[in-house]
Amino acid sequence: APDREELTWELFGRAERELSAQIVASGWVPDLIIAIARGGLIPAGAIGYAIGIKAMGAVNVEFYTGVGETLPEPVVLPPLMDASDLPGKKVLVVDDVADSGKTLKMVMELLQHQGLDLGGETISVDARSAVIYRKPHSVFEPDYCWRVTDKWINFPWSALPVITPASLDRENADLLYARVGD
Ligand code: 5GP
Repeated sequence: APDREELTWELFGRAERELSAQIVASGWVPDLIIAIARGGLIPAGAIGYAIGIKAMGAVNVEFYTGVGETLPEPVVLPPLMDASDLPGKKVLVVDDVADSGKTLKMVMELLQHQGLDLGGETISVDARSAVIYRKPHSVFEPDYCWRVTDKWINFPWSALPVITPASLDRENADLLYARVGD
């Protein structure tokens, strides 16, 4: 198997605290946090708690269809976010990883276009981005980043198989086994 970067739940706990500390140390305090779903949802929620921000939103973007397999371009999927509150706000965009960087770049450009035009005066969105990982070849440089790696990353939230009705017996057996094994 190719070399993987393994982010465990325990290591994620350290990553989100250190990334959050980076954001606070920069002196820039977001008014709200936008997660790029689904990969950015859990990191965004963790950062929200860590820095005491309750205003959260999400933009749903699909790009990867498998390990290293992508659609031609990232696409925004429903449910669509209401962006009317964003002009004049400091917005932190959070994703799990900037790999090609295309997803983050697209979302950041989307936010730049949400500025409010008041006949000559523009109220723009002050957007910054945070990721747990960045790949060296990313076309977009996030403002905040925990680690750089060129490996495929296994995240704890997508490391296990999806639970289906057909897999429930197996799932319960695994849980029971884990409990006995403690
Ligand atoms: P990008 O647009 O930067 O190429 O990648 C965007 C999304 O693809 C990420 O938010 C993530 O969900 C997925 N992705 C990219 N690289 C990796 C990786 O190394 N591991 C995993 N698990 N997902 C990845």
